[in-house]
Amino acid sequence: MKNLIFLAPPAAGKGTQAQLLVDKYAYTQISVGDLLREEVEKGNEELNNIMTAGKLVDTKIIVKLLLKKFNDENCNYILDGFPRSLEQAEALEQISKLENIDLGLVIYLHISKEEAKNRIVGRRTCPKCNRIYNCYIEDLKPIECNICDDCKVELTHRDDDNDESFERRYNTYYNETTPLINYYKNKNVLYEIDASVHTDEIFKKIEEIINDKN
Ligand code: AMP
Repeated sequence: MKNLIFLAPPAAGKGTQAQLLVDKYAYTQISVGDLLREEVEKGNEELNNIMTAGKLVDTKIIVKLLLKKFNDENCNYILDGFPRSLEQAEALEQISKLENIDLGLVIYLHISKEEAKNRIVGRRTCPKCNRIYNCYIEDLKPIECNICDDCKVELTHRDDDNDESFERRYNTYYNETTPLINYYKNKNVLYEIDASVHTDEIFKKIEEIINDKN
């Protein structure tokens, strides 16, 4: 299996698609956002402030967390939320050479800013299994309002999922991350998918790509 990198604006569904791939294929999801939130849970207030402000965390901190993860898990990975800047793309190439890891395919999930904003308001996460739900997207609603289908615990709303933080995160995405689209296009590894459609449809398209390339 080829490793995967997800490139997408906030709330395009990269976490949801990564979970679906993990359930069906031998992939391990490495969500940089989740790794950082784990650090916040351990009491790192500085990280919390950067994330709530919608800014990017220092690449060196993330590289440290990623290296630990790569050493822990010797497998095919889905990199969800990294790289998010040219500096990070270059750092990833260095890590890949160092650890002898193939960069793999880059899946670019495309949605408009308006769509992303609407999705952010309804997004909920299970604090136990990290499954992502959305109160406004029919196929991502929990069976029972605000309760995880699997763990039966109350769903949480992320601190940074509000209008103000969204604007800042989207601007950061636009300024820092969108240059990666051309960067990976030029390397012939980028696959663009319209992510404004039904979750299952997006998943089918991702499957077509990975089955074609493996
Ligand atoms: P996410 O869960 O992917 O939406 O990420 C939540 C927040 O974590 C972002 O708004 C950033 O503050 C931080 N973050 C996640 N991935 C990165 C990254 N690759 N580089 C810097 N900061 C990141």
